[in-house]
Amino acid sequence: MSVARTQAIALQGLHGAIVEVEADISDGLPGFLLIGLPDASLGEARDRVRAAAANSGCPLPSRKLTVNMSPASLRKHGSSFDLSIAVAALAAGDLVSAASIRSVVHIGELGLDGRLRPVDGILPSVLGAARAGATTVMVPSANVDEASLVPDVRVVGVASLRDAAIWHGGDFEPEAVEALTRPATEAVDEADLDLADVIGNRAAVEGMIVAASGGHHMLMVGPPGAGKTMLAARLPGLLPDLDIDQALEVSSVRSLSGLPVQALLSRRPPFESPHHSCSAAALVGGGHAIMRPGAVTRASGGVLFLDEAPEFAAAVLDGLRQPLESGSIVIQRTHGSATWPARCQLVLAANPCPCGEYGSRDVACSCSPFQRRRYLGKLSGPLIDRIDIQLRVSRIDSAQFRQATEPLGGQITTAEARSRVVAARDRQRRRWEGTPWRLNSEVPGSRLRSGDLRLATADTEVLDRALEGGALTMRGYDRVLRLAWTVADLDAAERPTREHVGAALALRRAL
Ligand SMILES: [Zn+2]
Repeated sequence: MSVARTQAIALQGLHGAIVEVEADISDGLPGFLLIGLPDASLGEARDRVRAAAANSGCPLPSRKLTVNMSPASLRKHGSSFDLSIAVAALAAGDLVSAASIRSVVHIGELGLDGRLRPVDGILPSVLGAARAGATTVMVPSANVDEASLVPDVRVVGVASLRDAAIWHGGDFEPEAVEALTRPATEAVDEADLDLADVIGNRAAVEGMIVAASGGHHMLMVGPPGAGKTMLAARLPGLLPDLDIDQALEVSSVRSLSGLPVQALLSRRPPFESPHHSCSAAALVGGGHAIMRPGAVTRASGGVLFLDEAPEFAAAVLDGLRQPLESGSIVIQRTHGSATWPARCQLVLAANPCPCGEYGSRDVACSCSPFQRRRYLGKLSGPLIDRIDIQLRVSRIDSAQFRQATEPLGGQITTAEARSRVVAARDRQRRRWEGTPWRLNSEVPGSRLRSGDLRLATADTEVLDRALEGGALTMRGYDRVLRLAWTVADLDAAERPTREHVGAALALRRAL
């Protein structure tokens, strides 16, 4: 055998594409020529593969060896091609079965000692292989659990190149090695965050249920200690379970970000809360050599929470505009582009002023009117335009605390709230069937003001007055209409009444 072929996977964004890896042995001076990878990775991959093969006791043939990876136009980065290069080279030298490696997709980085290192992005890679028709995928032992989340594909885990060679019929004695593992990371259990822990702020809790039901973005304004973070962290719990495709997407993004992926596919929506000092790349994705998804992509399918939103750099916040609009983000670089999902529900939190005390009962605010205006003014513009719900939250007083700690204090649990949300979403799905929309927050205002959906003048009177008096802009008017439909859906009403419109208007009174 002089030419051997196998397959690997190149990731572009979340899409995994098949790469053909071809090894050829010919007469000539001994050497190892690798083509089809970007320049910088070439030398590194070649050195790793050669050292790994030698150190696992199955050295590459000492003849002229050429490995080609195609299509050449496909952008390939990272070290996950090592295993495919190594087995192709071994097969070209007749050290393993060329027929055996032909039908297997290989993913894995080699250590110099010949052991396989776990790689990021295993889930989207194996998904890509399965979608391209592969039936068997060989991965590092530490990636087996994650790879096995993909249905209908056989996953073979190997600890070393020697194990891989033996599996492919190589005549080597098995040699036990300690498989490399990933460092364990603790995941926060969403089940521990119940809405019933929230004391007081009933209006904010109801506002969050409306937000979860209609998919509305939301802003909370209140002093430090009012529980804004506590509330936001409970929003994912109110959202329905993800379907299988959404769940695979969420876990694929985690995998690509180097985050742990559970052995059971999580159906719960993600929650991301980047710090206000974060860069644009950290928020929306980017990077130079290796492009990584940002927080907005890790939050896709769930909630993106920006605490102390006015403290984020204006340019960083501005980067959210396009992904919120389109539901995806495209990062362009000279050497390629990546598209990632960005369909998240946005929750912003802000103090009412730089000192945080404006409007609170117990402490006096030390900021000037100018400072206050400028502070929240940082949130104005295109971003705030997309936020339907604006809520005030306040610190609870002792009376509320007493009431809440008594039996039947009136708190609603996450499970109760989620079942209301699911019912309200069912009503929306039926109403918008056959349209491009699924949730009220996605429906253009013009649609809600026309045809059969137009509300009776008597029901929108309070809104019309606010519009005429200048208290509400036309965009604001449409936002209240959207909210009114969601409030009505939560109430199991056919269409919004005057009361639902009034309740919706109250959800926009923070600023
Ligand atoms: Zn202040």
